[in-house]
Amino acid sequence: MEKNQHDLVVIGGGPGGYVAAIRAAQLGLNVACVEKETALGGTCLRIGCIPSKAMLESSEHFWRAREEFGREGIRIANVELDLATMLKRKEQVVTTLTRGVDLLFKKNKITRYLGHGRIEAPGQVTVLAEKETVSVSTKHILVATGSKPATLPGIQMDGDRIGTSTEALAYTEVPKHLVVIGGGYIGVELGSVWRRLGAKVTILEYLDRILFGLDAEIAAEAKKLLEKQGLEFRLGARVTGARVEGDHCKVESEGSEPIQCDRVLVAVGRAPNTEKLGLESLPLELHKKGFIPVNQKFATNVDGIYAIGDVITGPMLAHKAEEEGIAFAEQLLTGFDHVNYDAIAAVVYTQPEIASVGQTEEQLHEAGKEYRKGVCPFRANARARTLGQVEGFIKILADSNTDRILGVHILGAHAGDLINEAAAAISFGASSEDLARTCHVHPTLGEGLREAALAVAGRTINL
Ligand code: FAD
Ligand code: AMP
Repeated sequence: MEKNQHDLVVIGGGPGGYVAAIRAAQLGLNVACVEKETALGGTCLRIGCIPSKAMLESSEHFWRAREEFGREGIRIANVELDLATMLKRKEQVVTTLTRGVDLLFKKNKITRYLGHGRIEAPGQVTVLAEKETVSVSTKHILVATGSKPATLPGIQMDGDRIGTSTEALAYTEVPKHLVVIGGGYIGVELGSVWRRLGAKVTILEYLDRILFGLDAEIAAEAKKLLEKQGLEFRLGARVTGARVEGDHCKVESEGSEPIQCDRVLVAVGRAPNTEKLGLESLPLELHKKGFIPVNQKFATNVDGIYAIGDVITGPMLAHKAEEEGIAFAEQLLTGFDHVNYDAIAAVVYTQPEIASVGQTEEQLHEAGKEYRKGVCPFRANARARTLGQVEGFIKILADSNTDRILGVHILGAHAGDLINEAAAAISFGASSEDLARTCHVHPTLGEGLREAALAVAGRTINL
């Protein structure tokens, strides 16, 4: 094939785009990926999942060393924070992983264009780089341009003291008082980081609950545990404005007193990224919130143009984007594969973690579905006792008639790892009895999942 001619051009090198590029290359296509940032890996690797988890891990170590190790007979005098080293480690983790994607591109012979990709017409992409503009032709175009932080009218972001998750991942000093606007997963995760490192943290949430979308019982219990860690929540507070005033920031809301603080994190959700993509010149109408409409094969209504990941509807999660990337490539080349959206789990990496897959009790009520519920508190789990992490519980919801597992919701230690077993069970159409009859290793947290499955049938052993 000639230079700048490909079978597939992927715009966006995040988890959706880079995974789609690799799978399509493995299946024999000549693939290119256009990414405007120097580092590949997208929001997830550069300014999302990975740096946030690195900071959550380090801040948790700091918190435990100060607050909890003493209980286990480990005394450390003068635990001190070296924030510069903590931030450096986070950057190193990010760099290692983003370079890993470069290596994967080389291994799979994927051409990488550095620059902003714009669709000129079906089959034609322009790459706008700093010094030149390159025209690329291709049979197929995949848009995987992801998302960007949403904002609100009245919020005057200065990209420093009033900013988004990107700034909050890199504060070079611990804020004295951080106000977080939005009690979703990004707000509670990054609020937790800075609380553990010593900040006063106030989370303002418009709704009467936090973590909207998660099972309400789990979210309510999580809120209590986060409050014990010192996070302050103001619910029913609709933020109407935030601005820098001299040496402090001022946040105003309906339903709560104005607050003065030194930093503001705006975490009110994310919006699809379709800016300057050239979509306006195509006969393609976006959803009202800006998402690109696609069918089950991820095809838009313009021949040869597809989209996946955060830029289309569905949960804005890295593994959802990856799953769609693989399904897109398989569909294109084999005609098969699909994404089972019922088996896509979500995790909030607080302490303890919160994880969920399938339907919540609220959704089942709304759908008028009869279900049975089995619960196992972590205090009944031997491994949780040895870890000293007995907070929270596991809840399994199973169809009353067929016993098929409809939802699993976990608040507790390592919930994010435990949920994969539940996702596998849902994706195989397992019943709660299937889980209950599977021998689980002792002593592990996974035994709690089995106990919750036994609880569905009212025959627990350890409760
Ligand atoms: P993105 O990762 O956003 O990648 C899109 C890429 O396209 C970007 O690199 C962008 O630079 C590039 N791009 C955009 N437009 C153009 C253009 N015109 N030309 C060239 N390049 C372009 N998800 C999880 O599953 N787990 C988590 O723990 C988690 N934590 C998160 C924490 C934070 C703080 C944030 C902000 C997000 C988190 N997410 C998490 C969400 C996750 O990052 C996204 O769901 C995921 O990155 C979406 O992947 P994507 O490939 O669709 O888009
Ligand atoms: P998520 O979409 O999960 O990132 O969560 C964003 C959260 O921000 C949701 O719980 C919203 O209810 C909340 N939110 C949106 N607008 C406002 C606002 N004006 N004031 C406070 N919270 C808000």
